[in-house]
Amino acid sequence: MSKNNLAKSEETIRWALAEFNNPIITTGLNLSGTVLLDISARAGFAGDVIFVDTGFHFPETLSFWDSLEARYTQMRFKKLGPTLETGPLFETDPLGCCKLNKIAPLEQYLSEVKPSALINARTRESAIGRSGLKEFESGSPAQINPLVNLTRADLEEYANIANLTIHPLYLYGFMSMGCWPCTKPVRAGDDPRSGRFSGQGRTECGLWENLGTNLEQNRNDKMLGS
Ligand code: SF4
Repeated sequence: MSKNNLAKSEETIRWALAEFNNPIITTGLNLSGTVLLDISARAGFAGDVIFVDTGFHFPETLSFWDSLEARYTQMRFKKLGPTLETGPLFETDPLGCCKLNKIAPLEQYLSEVKPSALINARTRESAIGRSGLKEFESGSPAQINPLVNLTRADLEEYANIANLTIHPLYLYGFMSMGCWPCTKPVRAGDDPRSGRFSGQGRTECGLWENLGTNLEQNRNDKMLGS
């Protein structure tokens, strides 16, 4: 494990805590998300930890969330849920399903709480499309990616040394955790995100790429009364 990268991750979180008055953590409960929580605890983070419960998560994911909440009692664990009962929309309109069940609850939370920064667990290695990810992305909210330089081996070694419990499905090849209808295990050497949104021609829900734009558009729509 690169001690320099690890020290840099913790330093970045400490910087974010000093620089932003109400940063939050969003997590999908992957290996990187688990490590992020632990490093953040060491750095003194005691804010909101957000997880969007779409209603379609594996039971193991929900139990794992409970175990993390019990471990990091200094943080405020908040589970967001969709406001609509959409049923199996993932079969007929997966983009609409993500929008209603995943993106909308988080955007609603963000527009109410208005955190100045999101600390998240993305790494460059976690998806082919993330190879150019920066440690800091300006915006409102800003996005901080303190683990950006860590490799999967770094994350596993950290989890091992820190004696962290990780998501039980990770051991079965679920490199990135999502909803059960849309997530599959990946084979060695494949893009770690390739198990997400299987068969839909995408590996992202669209939230991160469009976050600033979506929030800005929502604000403009409200001002215009649309
Ligand atoms: S990942 Fe699948 S089940 Fe989950 S919100 Fe998106 S389309 Fe629906």
